[in-house]
Amino acid sequence: MSVEQQINQLREELRQHNYNYYVLDAATISDYEFDMKLKDLQALEEKHPEFYDANSPTLRVGGEVTKNFNTVVHEQRMYSLDNSYSKEDLLDWETRIKKLVDGDVSYTCELKYDGASISLTYENGELIRAVTRGDGIQGDDVTTNVKTIKSVPLKLKGNYPPKFDIRGEIVLPYEGFAKMNQERIAAGEEPYANPRNTASGSLKLQDSSETAKRPLDCLLYNLAGDRLGISSQHESLEKAREWGFKVPKESRLVTSIDGVLEFINMWDEKRRDLPYETDGVVIKVNNLQQQEELGFTSKAPRWAMAYKFKAEQAVTKLNEITYQVGRTGAITPVANLEPVQLAGTTVKRASLHNADQIAKLDIREEDTVFVEKGGEIIPKIISVDFTKRNKNSVPTKYITSCPECDTELIRKEGEAQHYCPNVYGCPPQIIGRIQHYISRKALDIEGLGGETVALLVKEGLITNYADLYDLKKEQVIPLERMAEKSADNLIEGIAKSKEIPFERVLFGLGIRYVGETVAKKLAKHYKSIEAIIAATEEELVNVDEIGIKIAQSVREFFEGEDNRMLVNRLMDYGVQLQISADKLANQTDTLKGQTFVVSGVFEKVSRNELKKLIEDNGGKVSSSISSKTTYVVAGANMGPSKLEKANKLGITIISEDDFLNLIG
Ligand code: AMP
Ligand code: ZN
Repeated sequence: MSVEQQINQLREELRQHNYNYYVLDAATISDYEFDMKLKDLQALEEKHPEFYDANSPTLRVGGEVTKNFNTVVHEQRMYSLDNSYSKEDLLDWETRIKKLVDGDVSYTCELKYDGASISLTYENGELIRAVTRGDGIQGDDVTTNVKTIKSVPLKLKGNYPPKFDIRGEIVLPYEGFAKMNQERIAAGEEPYANPRNTASGSLKLQDSSETAKRPLDCLLYNLAGDRLGISSQHESLEKAREWGFKVPKESRLVTSIDGVLEFINMWDEKRRDLPYETDGVVIKVNNLQQQEELGFTSKAPRWAMAYKFKAEQAVTKLNEITYQVGRTGAITPVANLEPVQLAGTTVKRASLHNADQIAKLDIREEDTVFVEKGGEIIPKIISVDFTKRNKNSVPTKYITSCPECDTELIRKEGEAQHYCPNVYGCPPQIIGRIQHYISRKALDIEGLGGETVALLVKEGLITNYADLYDLKKEQVIPLERMAEKSADNLIEGIAKSKEIPFERVLFGLGIRYVGETVAKKLAKHYKSIEAIIAATEEELVNVDEIGIKIAQSVREFFEGEDNRMLVNRLMDYGVQLQISADKLANQTDTLKGQTFVVSGVFEKVSRNELKKLIEDNGGKVSSSISSKTTYVVAGANMGPSKLEKANKLGITIISEDDFLNLIG
């Protein structure tokens, strides 16, 4: 078999496995086998860039960075939908339809997925563009990010038309959303409010490898295009499924509004078992001929109607407002409710967000309140039943001092949250910070768990993460439930954490807004903790993707005497506070201040190697040519539009060899 055949076969196989796993939800090989095959393909592709394919399964991991998303005009407008809320609304709609078309009308009922709408363009079976809805007339080109979503087919199967658009919704299933939020909370960041906004935000991330990490899914529901040889909505769903798209199976073809209502009633209940959010049902006239006769109003198709589910509400009593202190000192007020059934679960607590929210709704203890579970996972109080309010009730006084350590709370300008400033004396902050330090994505200390940390703090054995390295076996053995063996493991685990790379230590320090990704960026840019400590706010802001909020927070952290002392102690213990020597050996500053665009296919190195070489030597890689571009590195088959743009802006085009000479 020739190399080309080998590559094509691997791509085909991986595509099928992707499809089995992400679209059909029925994997036929193990993750491990899949990874091995992917690695094989990657290796072959690196060696043979002449067989580059923009839709290869290896590109699912992302990596391309988009600075500005181009605006694209939709070939066919993306309409919104008219809404209905009752049987009467639907019967009215039917009456209007029957006046405009002849013959019987049947309907497809589909679920209304709550995410970000997307339009995908396919030509000759390949995905060539993905555009957000925008204002319906034009949207943003988010192709690089959408390509990382595994259920979006990059190549189609079967008998597809040569060119068409398909519309659908990018959603973030509950489970993945919850996981993302756990990670954010661990990084001291505010959790995302709901899956829908997070899904649409994910499409606009500049670094597509970040999008690739998010467990997004793409559900399709409409075809648009000329001469598709299809006569009904129901048929188009079936066809799209055949071509490899993920088209949910829940849709039904019915012949009357009664059938529609049955579907609605069933799903109003059952939708709670779905892995992603739905906020209603979309009813479409099935026959495409009839759809055409009905046409559009200025805003929406006359042949479709959304039916919105009522958000689930319950009435209950608010027993008490309590206050939680997070690892960063942020105070969160919590409503403790009389337990009540809501959307299939028992609700005992609801978030009250912050002082403003409590004041705005005038929420008080002992009130009767309406609780709602909408897009948000944590239920919220939407209003108070004032008619049931106790005569002698008084407005809630927000706490002014910390419930855990009694320190007076502060509230920074422009921030909604109150904070306990007693960073080193407030138990939940002390414990939270150490728990964060030892967590999986930070120092990942084996043999030490969150509860043991709390115990060690309570027993006065540690008050910060540096103290961990002073712990002696004899000190921990007397602790509750601590056997000789576990004590050994604990001490050993702590010692082993000295090998954890700098970027993860930096994350572990618990600097506000310095999550995993930011820590990586900072570590890569500054290479050592000393360099970060020495950096001014302006310098920090100049680092790619570091904004003012992060820069200020970093400065503030290292200006703290105690923090610097902790860092010095970590250094003395031998914790990694700089990039390791062998990593450093491959890095230079030769290309500092220069921005490169890479285009075409290369002989000596792969595109990814080339990009890595640029970054390792201090240069920046950008995906589009602008006046800021220093060089375009061009291989064979450089895109004609890029060539034209480079020439127009007078940007120097260099070859692969020129580039290699540049870095010596
Ligand atoms: P709205 O934003 O409330 O006007 O509702 C219209 C949006 O519903 C469309 O833009 C789609 O993004 C979304 N939608 C979700 N599920 C469907 C579906 N099955 N058919 C059509 N549109 C849908
Ligand atoms: Zn406190």
